[in-house]
Amino acid sequence: MPIAIATLDGGRKNVDESAIEQFAMSIRGDVLKPVDPRYGERPIYNAMHQRRPALIVRCTGTADVVDAVRFAREHNLLLAVRGGGHSVAGHSSCDNGIVIDLTRMRGVDVDPESRTARVQGGATWGDLDRETQAFGLIVPGGVVSETGVAGLTLGGGEGWVRRKYGLTIDSLLSARVVCADGSVRTASAESDADLFWALRGGGGNFGVVTSFEFRAHPLGPIVAFAGVFYRASDAAQILPRWRDYCLQSPDEVTSVAVAITMPAAPTLPPPIHNQACLVIGGVYAGTPEQGMRVMQPLRELGTPLADISQPMPFHHVQTAFDPLFPMGKLQSYWKAQNLASLPDQAIEVIAARANQRPSPLTLVVVFQMGGAINRVGATDTAYAERSAPWMSSVDGNWENPTDNAKNIAWVRESFSQIAPYSTGTTYTNFTGQADESADALTSKAYGANMARLRALKAKYDPDNFFRINANITPAAAAPV
Ligand code: FAD
Repeated sequence: MPIAIATLDGGRKNVDESAIEQFAMSIRGDVLKPVDPRYGERPIYNAMHQRRPALIVRCTGTADVVDAVRFAREHNLLLAVRGGGHSVAGHSSCDNGIVIDLTRMRGVDVDPESRTARVQGGATWGDLDRETQAFGLIVPGGVVSETGVAGLTLGGGEGWVRRKYGLTIDSLLSARVVCADGSVRTASAESDADLFWALRGGGGNFGVVTSFEFRAHPLGPIVAFAGVFYRASDAAQILPRWRDYCLQSPDEVTSVAVAITMPAAPTLPPPIHNQACLVIGGVYAGTPEQGMRVMQPLRELGTPLADISQPMPFHHVQTAFDPLFPMGKLQSYWKAQNLASLPDQAIEVIAARANQRPSPLTLVVVFQMGGAINRVGATDTAYAERSAPWMSSVDGNWENPTDNAKNIAWVRESFSQIAPYSTGTTYTNFTGQADESADALTSKAYGANMARLRALKAKYDPDNFFRINANITPAAAAPV
């Protein structure tokens, strides 16, 4: 019996079962149809975007990815690529098409001599942290351990050491990529340098990355951590003091201010159970003793409900937020923008929104940016925002799908109210479903780099085969 699979032109094509069987026999991994008991066993993060692909191809290596790309190309089939499955915008899967699922490709190999790490395209930050910390090293990544290394890196990547070591892409040395024509390239500063430029911020537009090579940096196993829970109702008083601290803090400090209602989890101090909090977090990329001293003012911005600041294993810091983001349970819609400054008027807006959140797990966040991120030129990588000292993100998270419209509208309204203080640029990794045209969404992230990205898309993926992503449409005919 043929199987109807979605095509790139928006239709469906009947693909012979024998052709699918032949493809399945040719790879080391598995081809899962909806009837397979393993089909639904790896949910994606955002429950709002659960999809039903016709086939899930669980690849075990680059060769499988090449064959999967060629099979999809041969039949003109719609294709999604899943790394960690944390796409907020729902780009981890697709309805009725094919998914290249990299969750069996999670290998990590650290070379402590050269301080480099090679990571497969389906690894999570938990996988990478586990191996790097064995050697007292880190690769700058995200703050939730289940987030995929691939999607986060390709969008830029910001985490707890961003001000000391920059974005994740700033530590990327090379990437092995299966391109739209099925060819395999290793992109680096020396080889396919234009592709390497595009991969550093351009998302999944340019191919399937089957492995990354990163520069690793010494840190841990113990780091100084600040975790101070103030009342959200005090945000208007706390945030100006936090801003003033951040403005003079060294690059070793990376801090964040997050409004959230804390769950009544047994691991959390009872005074914050079910309380709307403004959490001031911080990590010091240096010695724990000095870090605790330098971050002491973060603990004295007001009267905290609880303070869990202490030297702690970097591994614990990296998993501290995991329970708030279970896979496949929450509806999520996020919108982020970079801020040129954080004047009192902006803080008033942010503090007011922090106290009007429609759902307990909805976050109103201000990230301290700057430091090493800003020492890279705006056109040196595809990621264009290299001057903003702050980023604001409004992360709507709730459980009941019947509340979607209300929560999405609230996030959009918050974004609009904060927009007057924005540089005008967004962060594709913290962007919910496209609520504008795809081009409008990406051009706000890429600014002046958009023309070059579109020209490179035309060079490497002229048919826009890789389209389930923050999509960069190929330029009609443009010089690269
Ligand atoms: P996926 O859904 O698997 O993929 C996301 C996109 O990348 C898709 O378009 C996909 O096709 C593409 N892709 C995935 N793997 C590959 C590959 N190997 N080759 C080519 N394309 C690929 N971002 C930060 O910067 N810092 C954070 O601290 C952070 N924390 C987060 C916490 C949570 C709970 C969530 C949900 C997101 C967080 N993010 C963070 C955002 C995150 O970076 C993006 O959602 C990112 O796209 C997730 O990557 P993934 O591989 O898990 O997702």
